[in-house]
Amino acid sequence: MTDDRDDDGLDELLAAMQAAADPTVPELLAQIDRARQAPPPEVTTIPDPEMVFGAETLARFRCPLQCGWTHEEPVGDGPLRVILPADWSLEDLNSALCLDAEVRALAFRTNVEQAIDEHFRQRHPEI
Ligand SMILES: [Zn+2]
Repeated sequence: MTDDRDDDGLDELLAAMQAAADPTVPELLAQIDRARQAPPPEVTTIPDPEMVFGAETLARFRCPLQCGWTHEEPVGDGPLRVILPADWSLEDLNSALCLDAEVRALAFRTNVEQAIDEHFRQRHPEI
């Protein structure tokens, strides 16, 4: 004899109990769902860097053809370039910091891509 109780109802009850015990659970589940639906990362020709730690942290990129060429790009916070309205809110600050991070990431990527492109034009023009 089988039990015909509604298992889906039990799952919903357990999920509700978990959510009530830890209010972050629904947000974590929503974040996981958004991550699953996010597009894949953009394809890039930038090889993985090795990090060089010193007075200034650098990302060192080596030629993928192993000719000995390297390019070092500074990695650091630097001064913030954030402009906020006089009556700024935490949301304004969050948006400004995210925008600053996106601009820095784009500048970093552009510098590295240009260095690699220039190296290939000068040293490996056959490719
Ligand atoms: Zn090379």
